[in-house]
Amino acid sequence: MAIKVIKVGEDILGANADQARLNQELLDQNRVFTINIMSSPGAGKTSIIMNTINQLKDKVKIAVIEGDVASSVDSEKINGLGIPVVQINTAGGCHLDANMVEGALKNLPLAEIDLLFIENVGNLICPNAFVLGEDRRVMISSLPEGDDKPYKYPAMFADTDIILLNKTDLQPYLDFNPDAFRKIVYSLNSDATIFPISCKTGDGLENWYSWLESEVVKKKGNAV
Ligand code: MG
Repeated sequence: MAIKVIKVGEDILGANADQARLNQELLDQNRVFTINIMSSPGAGKTSIIMNTINQLKDKVKIAVIEGDVASSVDSEKINGLGIPVVQINTAGGCHLDANMVEGALKNLPLAEIDLLFIENVGNLICPNAFVLGEDRRVMISSLPEGDDKPYKYPAMFADTDIILLNKTDLQPYLDFNPDAFRKIVYSLNSDATIFPISCKTGDGLENWYSWLESEVVKKKGNAV
């Protein structure tokens, strides 16, 4: 009797991609520019989201989906800024998927939102494989993690649009080599845009803000 082989990974990713397309359609109908933010734990995802909210909230209507293995500490911080936020707890799961995001989208006033941040679970491996319906992927890498991380987690660096290189204020205390980092990243992903930033001092954040604002305006102008 022939043995039937079920390729579980392909089935899961195919179903995820189908749901992600539906999420994208819904977000397009509402002209919500959506960013999937990924990084290792502690690289600065929530800090960057909060800085960006404080900078842009008078001009851009922002909402946040917070993905965490457990707890709601990040969503409580965002909620304190008066921004709509939905927490997804993955109960041990190491990434968000399109079904989880679909559930969160039902709880957000999409018609009133211009910009949606989806903060993925802190992890440099699994989130990369699961599209969520985002317009752009933004990865945060921070100096204390070392300049060799693109070698170790190439898929994550290859599949992102923007890399925010955070914690540049710590350069005097570290052996991080920015040129080596750039060289590896561009060898994996020649289209990546790298913004060196410091959430602590604010250095470089203006480049990120202006990129984001122009993308939001573009999406608002592209009616479906
Ligand atoms: Mg966080």
